[in-house]
Amino acid sequence: MNLNIALLKGDGIGPEIVDSAVRVLEVIGEKYGHKFTFTPYDIGGCAIDKHGMPLPEETVKGCLEADSVLLGAVGGPKWDTLPGNMRPEKALLGIRAAMNLFTNLRPAKLYPALKDECPLRADIVENGFDIMIVRELTGGIYFGERGMREGKYGEEAYDTECYSRMEIERIARVAFESAKKRRGKLISIDKANVLESSRLWRKVVHEIAEEYPEVECTDMLVDNAAMQLVRNPAQFDVIVTSNMFGDILSDEASQITGSIGMLPSASLNETTKGLYEPIHGSAPDIAGQNKANPIATILSGAMMLLYSFNLAKESEAIVKAVDKVLEAGYRTADLAHGAESLGTKEITDKIIECI
Ligand code: NAD
Repeated sequence: MNLNIALLKGDGIGPEIVDSAVRVLEVIGEKYGHKFTFTPYDIGGCAIDKHGMPLPEETVKGCLEADSVLLGAVGGPKWDTLPGNMRPEKALLGIRAAMNLFTNLRPAKLYPALKDECPLRADIVENGFDIMIVRELTGGIYFGERGMREGKYGEEAYDTECYSRMEIERIARVAFESAKKRRGKLISIDKANVLESSRLWRKVVHEIAEEYPEVECTDMLVDNAAMQLVRNPAQFDVIVTSNMFGDILSDEASQITGSIGMLPSASLNETTKGLYEPIHGSAPDIAGQNKANPIATILSGAMMLLYSFNLAKESEAIVKAVDKVLEAGYRTADLAHGAESLGTKEITDKIIECI
């Protein structure tokens, strides 16, 4: 295949970790006979410095024209005092909206080799866990009507949670498809005991469930889900939930893996195009020091091969190489706890050796 990939390296450790993922993808291309063409575009703080805005038009155009997009991270102290719409993070919302990325896939997996990183008791995570969170990304309260007004007690602020049947149907289908390819278990998380929008969510998910008799689908209230994630994370296979609940629960799930430098994500739309990025930020404290863990970004590249290009074998080759490197005991500084560690470039070399 000939594939064009837009690279949004961004700020902080972004350039280093994206370079690692590119090296890995190039090796995959050579081994399996694909040609990946990478085109870099500015986003975030570096785009503010160069173009006076966090998401230049040229970047949006480049992403829309590419077959897929790989993002590092944006932001840093240099731009922290700028007004809201000029902040680097604003570019993330902008590019998601421009690409209509309504699905966010966030795997949270506890690697056997990294069991000791998990902050939960050993008996709780004896058998590890492997959760796929499917979060709705372009609707709900983050995009609903909001405002300020004078109320009975003076100044008031409000935000609105609103979901249409169409928005629920399309995210539910993504989740059922994902469950079908995994262990066949889907838990839909809502707050249907209180919220009208959750009651529609639940009704529509149940309707779509009829199309997927092979998937076991149950509901869970969000407060219970927050508890169950730390009580027994292994009970979850695929989770589907709204934008805000997904935002919170996916961060909780990532924390119980104990290693944010390891977790990739994919944001998808109705086409095969997607935006792939690590879940962590730009880590300004370690930027430019060859200390960043590139694995989350390398695994984001593996997700791209699977979800955008349908290259399952190639994707699996990356996942297996990462597993092997961890099993062999190699660690970056974030996972080494003061013991000997490898730099960003060196752990990438090890992963490449294992492909
Ligand atoms: P962060 O994720 O950047 O860093 C939190 C801690 O984890 C730091 O100690 C950092 O060194 C460490 N860390 C993160 N990724 C690592 C990696 N790959 N390898 C080793 N260590 C790693 O979060 P923060 O410090 O809250 O935010 C820093 C900047 O990143 C802010 O400007 C924030 O707005 C931005 N941010 C961007 C994104 C994004 O681009 N998607 C997401 C979150 C935060």
